[in-house]
Amino acid sequence: MFDTLSDRLTSVLQNLRGKGKLSDADIDATAREIRIALLEADVALPVVREFIKHVKERAKGAEVSEALNPAQQVIKIVNEELVGILGGETRRVNLAKTPPTVIMLAGLQGSGKTTLAGKLATWLKKQGHAPMLVACDLQRPNAVTQLQVVGERAGVTTYAPEPGNGVGDPVDVAKRSIEEARHAQHDVVVVDTAGRLGVDEELMQQAADIRDAVQPDETLFVVDAMIGQDAVTTAEAFRDGVGFTGVVLTKLDGDARGGAALSVRQVTGEPILFASNGEKLEDFDVFHPDRMASRILG
Ligand code: GDP
Repeated sequence: MFDTLSDRLTSVLQNLRGKGKLSDADIDATAREIRIALLEADVALPVVREFIKHVKERAKGAEVSEALNPAQQVIKIVNEELVGILGGETRRVNLAKTPPTVIMLAGLQGSGKTTLAGKLATWLKKQGHAPMLVACDLQRPNAVTQLQVVGERAGVTTYAPEPGNGVGDPVDVAKRSIEEARHAQHDVVVVDTAGRLGVDEELMQQAADIRDAVQPDETLFVVDAMIGQDAVTTAEAFRDGVGFTGVVLTKLDGDARGGAALSVRQVTGEPILFASNGEKLEDFDVFHPDRMASRILG
């Protein structure tokens, strides 16, 4: 029994050490183990198949190098393939030529959107921006207050409907927030949208209406890394219902082994921009494909 993906890969690849070159049998055995390991890490099956296909092709065609033993060679190939799927380089946030830049957050309830809004605001401030949060989750009681609390902790303004003015229309709030941002000279607006426990059409429509109203420079799909391969169906639903330009992985401090990262990136083709790894505002960074690959590989 191997506990983690990295343990399994490392152990299997270590077995190859000392052999002169990669035989077909070596490659097949390695591929089998990588397959089990990725499935254990909760990577979606079609993504696993595609990955193995690439690794096998490259391993078969690889020149036997003087410098690396076969195990090192396979590790190198697997690592390069992982980094490639995960996006290669860190992708930067698209900033609007004319401020404010609008960043819209979409995702399931509990995925970590509100927490992320605070983290993003903190990060943006550090980058010299003057962000404003916008509360467009008007469905869930407390959602507005929670965003305001997060905004206060991050030391940024939160734009929200006046209490006592009824529930309000999230599309209207989003539109007015852009005017307010221009007026108050906020150069980045982070729009939090409503999340439901499951994917539903009303949620998608509302998010799509907000998107049409504010024309975001980035729409970020926020996904809890702990949901593993379920991330694929959720990502597909958000891609088809709202569309997104980037992904944020949250809760990477849990025992998530990178399955969601690989699956979402491979299935949607959209880059992962940020990684969230804790409940504190500072537990946040731009996403580094190479670091995630190392984490998966061990
Ligand atoms: P939302 O419903 O999408 O707005 O999700 P929230 O931001 O309210 O987060 C849901 C729960 O997950 C809260 O208890 C957060 O403290 C927690 N949470 C959010 N991001 C992270 C993270 O990166 N790591 C951990 N461990 N918990 C997180």
